[in-house]
Amino acid sequence: MTVITRFAPAPTGRLHVGNIRTALHNWLWARRHGGRFILRLDDTDRERSSEASAQGIRDDLAWLGLVPDEEHRQSDRFHRYEEALERLRAIGRVYPAYETAQELDLKRKVLLGRAKPPVYDRAALELSDAERERLEGEGRRPHWRFKLDHSAPIEWTDLIRGHQHIDPSLLSDPVVRREDGSWLYMLPSAVDDIDLAVTHVVRGEDHVTNTALQIQMFEALSAAPPAFAHEALLVGSEGKLSKRLGSLGIEGMQEAGIEPIALLAKLARIGTSLPVEPVASLKPLTQTFDFVSFGRAPARFDMDELAGLNARIVHQLPFEAVADRLPSGMTAEAWEVIRPNLKSVGEAADWWHIVEGPVEANAGDQDREFLQAAAEEAERLDWSSAPWSALTTALKASTGRTGKALFLPLRRALTGRESGPEMAALLPLIGREGSIKRLRAAAA
Ligand code: GLU
Repeated sequence: MTVITRFAPAPTGRLHVGNIRTALHNWLWARRHGGRFILRLDDTDRERSSEASAQGIRDDLAWLGLVPDEEHRQSDRFHRYEEALERLRAIGRVYPAYETAQELDLKRKVLLGRAKPPVYDRAALELSDAERERLEGEGRRPHWRFKLDHSAPIEWTDLIRGHQHIDPSLLSDPVVRREDGSWLYMLPSAVDDIDLAVTHVVRGEDHVTNTALQIQMFEALSAAPPAFAHEALLVGSEGKLSKRLGSLGIEGMQEAGIEPIALLAKLARIGTSLPVEPVASLKPLTQTFDFVSFGRAPARFDMDELAGLNARIVHQLPFEAVADRLPSGMTAEAWEVIRPNLKSVGEAADWWHIVEGPVEANAGDQDREFLQAAAEEAERLDWSSAPWSALTTALKASTGRTGKALFLPLRRALTGRESGPEMAALLPLIGREGSIKRLRAAAA
């Protein structure tokens, strides 16, 4: 059996961390099993869907490296939904209903007022042909409901939640098609999963009830339901489903200098029993991906933690992986010196500018003489090996300075900063001429 998963966003906006996580899990499961990963654009809502959003989603997935093997869109498949509806109508599993939104709302309120679950009363099933004709004569158009089978509980073994058991009589027969002919998500999704031979549906636990309804749709359409994995939702660090998370997308990640692999490393493992690790590629995440490691508690997403993970990953990135994002002229040697000090690859440019100079560094009165001595020492030095060690050893002997008093004025004069990469590694990059010039300028 080829594992086939699908990621099914509505093209009504860009991806955000919540659905990026769902996309990733679908991708990982398919890859782990040598299967296929489908992008399905749920664009039955023609008003809210747009080609710009569809393209945005493709771009987001491409940036993440989660390229789909196939793409389908629901708006190309309306004929299949018509056929399914017709089949279900022929076997009495869908029926027309004529209540207006206001009438349905009133029914719900009455039930809630009596402390009863607001389940649709199936009044439309009682209509006679004559009553239906009268309603249609008045200009009413039907919407269509899927008739749930109340004879047995709906059960499945969820790959994350374990055994699930839902009483269908507590659920309303879902509306599958509106009076204007437009489709609701429920039936098209089941039809697509059948036609595209989807084997695993991986999505958020907000879809658990939909799954119960869809299992009956699969069965009514004579298809075996796929396996389901419903993951606990992602929440913000404050523990709530924050608005911020819902709008935290790829653009925000790029602005924060987050590497795609850092985001993926985080989203692959949060909410699981496996540790979040600074991996270099998707390979180790794929090899270890398994629903058995998923917990039932909401997964907490914290941007500061992600930034920390990102820094650890940046510290390991080889030059070839970042060369096209570095300032021109920056060498592999410079990258390796600067890398341990970065939170993001973008910050490398700041340090490269410091290496290239000029730097702004005026020393205090107490250090001028010392820096003058340092400049003279730098002129005498053999720069071909370990100039920093030679410089500081000589200055220690000639001035008696040690520790901070020895190192800090030199660092400030040479880089304009209080901290940064190892001076021993930085000094050869700045070079003899540049270093002497900076020491003299700071002493002046
Ligand atoms: N378009 C649906 C959503 O984004 C898809 C749910 C599903 O995976 O079936 O919620």
